[in-house]
Amino acid sequence: MNILHIEQSTLIREMTRDVVANIGHGYFCTCGGQEALDILEKEEIHFIITGLELSDITGEGFMKQLSASKYKDIPVIVLTSTDCMDIRKKLFDLGVVDYIVKDSLTDEKLKSYIEAFEKKDDVIKKMMNRDIAVLDDSVMVNTLIKNIFDLHGIRKIDTYTSAEDLLAAKKDYAIYILDLVLPGISGEEVLLTLRQKSKNSIVILISSISNYKTISNILSSGADDFIMKPFDASVFMARIKAHSRNFILREELEHANAELAKAAITDGLTQIYNHKYIVDRLDVEIERSKRYNSPLSIILLDIDNFKGVNDKYGHQIGDLVLKSIASSMTQLVRNSDLVGRYGGEEFMVILPETDQESARTVGEKIRMSIEALTYEDSEVHVTVSGGAVTFNGQCSQHLIRMADEGLYEAKSLGKNQIVYLENTCSPEEMNA
Ligand code: GH3
Ligand code: MG
Ligand code: MG
Repeated sequence: MNILHIEQSTLIREMTRDVVANIGHGYFCTCGGQEALDILEKEEIHFIITGLELSDITGEGFMKQLSASKYKDIPVIVLTSTDCMDIRKKLFDLGVVDYIVKDSLTDEKLKSYIEAFEKKDDVIKKMMNRDIAVLDDSVMVNTLIKNIFDLHGIRKIDTYTSAEDLLAAKKDYAIYILDLVLPGISGEEVLLTLRQKSKNSIVILISSISNYKTISNILSSGADDFIMKPFDASVFMARIKAHSRNFILREELEHANAELAKAAITDGLTQIYNHKYIVDRLDVEIERSKRYNSPLSIILLDIDNFKGVNDKYGHQIGDLVLKSIASSMTQLVRNSDLVGRYGGEEFMVILPETDQESARTVGEKIRMSIEALTYEDSEVHVTVSGGAVTFNGQCSQHLIRMADEGLYEAKSLGKNQIVYLENTCSPEEMNA
């Protein structure tokens, strides 16, 4: 990383040069604004430190020039002995990422400042594309916080000066930074409202109030942290990082759990529901059908002469056929229908809200679409046979047995057809 330092004082320059050299970065320095622009022209500069009184221009004037130039995205920190709110505000508005008063600057601090900038660790990288909301009635504080994030490459920041606007926003943010004292509403009220919709977001309150009762109250209302104003940029960022680390871990854990839950009900080869899940769901759908008195049908399908496909073309092609058929069926049926792998080359389709007539139609559609499938550049061609039946009070095992009878009949009638069994038996007869 190359650092450009614009400063008239030799002492400050030497101190900064030593720190920068110590941590292995390139150091360029100059006294004036024009020379600085010349250096920017020649060297690749990643970071600028500037004083307020330059030899030919004020720091403010230099910032104006810089922000109008192609170098406007290079982060700039101001290092000065003058601490004036008015100048601070102007410079932050011009895009300065931090304003450091020399008196409080130590080698260590400068070093950690530069290092923090350089070390965009994994947490920061992961947070770079997450949305962050900052709510403070002071535009200056908003800009200050935005600039701190900016220094770390985190740029998806929305700043709000009104709580109403933030609460009305349709966006869900990963991080909320809220001022505790706001006009008309308290940060705590905002926090409580936000917590109702965003359980996992990081919510951090900031305020100059140092009352312990207030702080403990805020934390027990669901804030993740409380940061005192005025705050140090590196401490602020360190806290954001600590919370982000937990946030990312929690998200990864939730994602892993969801994957595990999905894997437990999914057939590994075809990615449709597995045997256990599809059979369990049949029980659930039977209960629903009874409760709402709605029709329910199932189709059991078996690939014709599949052994021959494996024997002639190999298991890999056989697997491809299974996958293609599964995916084609899933695309063909409604979202509310369920497709599962019942056995090796057998599939079950559950059709809720579907009566005899519609089940016939769906069965025929599936049969025809499978007949039309081709498998990469192989000459493989397969058909399916099936048995279909509509629920009429039986238990799931009985219903499956009936569909299986239909399937058996379809095979004996010459395959490539779906036999629909009229289910006129009463439950008593069937279960007898
Ligand atoms: P039918 O028309 O009477 O159903 O004849 P079939 O050859 O399809 O029936 P059979 O029960 O004789 O053979 C089923 C074949 O399905 C045998 C088995 O190797 C194959 N099979 C089952 N599961 C898989 C799998 O996961 N991958 C592959 N490639 N083949 C499978
Ligand atoms: Mg079979
Ligand atoms: Mg078969």
